[in-house]
Amino acid sequence: MGQSIEFDVRDPTLVECRVTFVKSGDNLSVFCTCEMGRRQQYCAHRLDILRGDTSGIVSDNVAEAASIGQWAVGTDVYSAMLEIEQCEHRAAEADRRLDEAKLRLGVAMRD
Ligand SMILES: [Zn+2]
Repeated sequence: MGQSIEFDVRDPTLVECRVTFVKSGDNLSVFCTCEMGRRQQYCAHRLDILRGDTSGIVSDNVAEAASIGQWAVGTDVYSAMLEIEQCEHRAAEADRRLDEAKLRLGVAMRD
């Protein structure tokens, strides 16, 4: 039961790997053959496709990636993706505030 889709991916560092999405009921599993994926750790190959970035896909089924986003909705994968997005947003905000604080320090030290 369930459905699966595989993509061959080549990333900007020319690592080639295979990303496999398996949807079964409410569960989505995503595997990657890269080193991090084999260690069952986060890798961008999977997140990129989940986010709709198909630029790394080199297999001839790129069009199938359009349904992957829908496969994720309502799963624990989706919740974790949202958490990453929120953290990235907060990190960007912190970077902006840090830059502003450095500017203020520069101004404060002038007089
Ligand atoms: Zn990977």
